[in-house]
Amino acid sequence: MSETALDPRAPIRFRHETRMRLLDVVGVTDITPLMRRVTLQGDMTGFASLGHADHIKAFFFPRGVEPFVAPIGPNGAEWPGERPAMRDYTPRYFNIEQGTLVLDFVLHGDGPASTWAAGVRPGDKLVIGGPRGSLVVPATFDWYLLVGDETALPALGRRIEELPAGARVIALIEVDNGAEEQRFTTHADLTLHYLHRNGRPAGTTSLLPDAVANLTFPPGEAYAYIACESGISKAMRAQLTDQRNWNPEYIKAAGYWLLGTADANEPH
Ligand SMILES: Cc1cc2nc3c(=O)[nH]c(=O)nc-3n(C[C@H](O)[C@H](O)[C@H](O)COP(=O)(O)OP(=O)(O)OC[C@H]3O[C@@H](n4cnc5c(N)ncnc54)[C@H](O)[C@@H]3O)c2cc1C
Repeated sequence: MSETALDPRAPIRFRHETRMRLLDVVGVTDITPLMRRVTLQGDMTGFASLGHADHIKAFFFPRGVEPFVAPIGPNGAEWPGERPAMRDYTPRYFNIEQGTLVLDFVLHGDGPASTWAAGVRPGDKLVIGGPRGSLVVPATFDWYLLVGDETALPALGRRIEELPAGARVIALIEVDNGAEEQRFTTHADLTLHYLHRNGRPAGTTSLLPDAVANLTFPPGEAYAYIACESGISKAMRAQLTDQRNWNPEYIKAAGYWLLGTADANEPH
């Protein structure tokens, strides 16, 4: 047995069968001026999302092409011709019996996903695949550090809402301005700090690293989840390990998007 397997706090990975689904848009609401909530409905049989930071792949077809589901082969989806644009989104809420899935889209401007979300209407369709896996971080840490920008609000919100009574959580979340702040209902012991860019472009400030640098950490073993622009996320992982002596096993630092680069998560 490996050393990690012996660690009762080690995050656990689950694999799920990859399925693609063609879902109907049944609801569109702006939860804040720049965050659009899209409720989808369809056959959710077999859908699994055990971790707060799971993602589905959403597919965006060229204008005029009716969305359709590709068959799954040994190497994933097999698209006849060019694959539609594919971007990662967090299952914010889902209900398998009711066949619903809720995704929250940041309306950041150009890009197939943001453009689709800006124009979406009930009756439209969205093809999604996954989640292909889940990472479950045990609720046995002394405290949790959650850091992210608005793209991480769905994942951070899920985590905050899912952690049990007694779990201590410090969340540092960067958004454009006060109108973009979201509030969460939780049993956890939550300290939530919002940081405002006030018009400066996303991915260009040091608000998050500065806030972490100024934070007094509570005692005990903690798990850090970081999700934001890739360069900032990487820098913050180094900040925690090099300057704050954080156990690298207990950090997940994800790049959710890359400044100046479209489709940053896909191989080019
Ligand atoms: C695991 C995971 C989960 C995610 N979950 C969510 C989620 O639930 N909700 C959500 O909104 N996003 C989420 N994201 C981020 C989202 O996938 C990216 O922002 C994605 O690039 C958006 O695609 P697009 O087609 O709009 O833009 P792209 O075509 O990818 O990019 C076009 C341009 O826009 C820039 N850009 C991309 N995103 C942003 C942004 N947020 N702010 C400013 N500029 C940006 C790029 O740098 C590029 O210059 C997640 C990412 C990952 C990896």
